[in-house]
Amino acid sequence: MMKFKMLALSASSAVAFSCAHRLPAPPGSEVNRKVLEYKVQEGETLLKVGKQYAVAPSSIQKMNRLSASEELKPGQLIYIPVSEAALSPSDSEGRGRWVERADALSEENLPETGRRAYLYSQYRQLEFPLANGRVQSHFGPRSGRAHEGIDIFPKGEKNIVAAQAGTVEFVGKKRGYGLTVVVNHKSFKTLYAHCSRTFVKEGTPVKMGEKIALVGATGNAHGVHLHFEYQNMNNIAMDPLPHLDRDFAH
Ligand SMILES: [Zn+2]
Repeated sequence: MMKFKMLALSASSAVAFSCAHRLPAPPGSEVNRKVLEYKVQEGETLLKVGKQYAVAPSSIQKMNRLSASEELKPGQLIYIPVSEAALSPSDSEGRGRWVERADALSEENLPETGRRAYLYSQYRQLEFPLANGRVQSHFGPRSGRAHEGIDIFPKGEKNIVAAQAGTVEFVGKKRGYGLTVVVNHKSFKTLYAHCSRTFVKEGTPVKMGEKIALVGATGNAHGVHLHFEYQNMNNIAMDPLPHLDRDFAH
């Protein structure tokens, strides 16, 4: 399992979740820019990472909603807006991974919404949060809005489990999301929405695969399902699917 340094929680952490469904899908026509999901290594700074990919540090800062003085931490996941040409082939095998928006980037500095990953993680990072469930709606633009997670419909199993070990950060109702659990995993967070019941309390640790809630249809849900999100520590939603995909796991 990966090791991460503890990250400080930002005070604005609750905000991005609650407005996730109301963000408009980004427009755009430019095709040569892509977004790299990148895991920060020991000793790396914004300047260093920016130099490596020929991107202004301020662009990385804005895309990841980092404050001006914020330093990168090892293990932190960030997005880097890069041109394809700036990447070496090793990036597709190593620490970085391509993510792609259905709408190409028009403005690199916009906080990202609606991306779709197409290169996959080399490791399985997350437990599938609803066993046997079917993913029926993917991450990305949906009906003109950003869908910041995936929808998993139950097939028999009703228990939602923690996708990885972490600490319960939030249990309660969120607008649109209904009864929701957020688990903090130090370098990222997972969110479980539309629950009918929860079994965990804020501030308590959970194990990977531990039962945390029952699938439901609370909030703005069409039918009983789990809306599952994967976010970095700056509340940028990322496509959870690559981190769940069994075919690419080892
Ligand atoms: Zn959803």
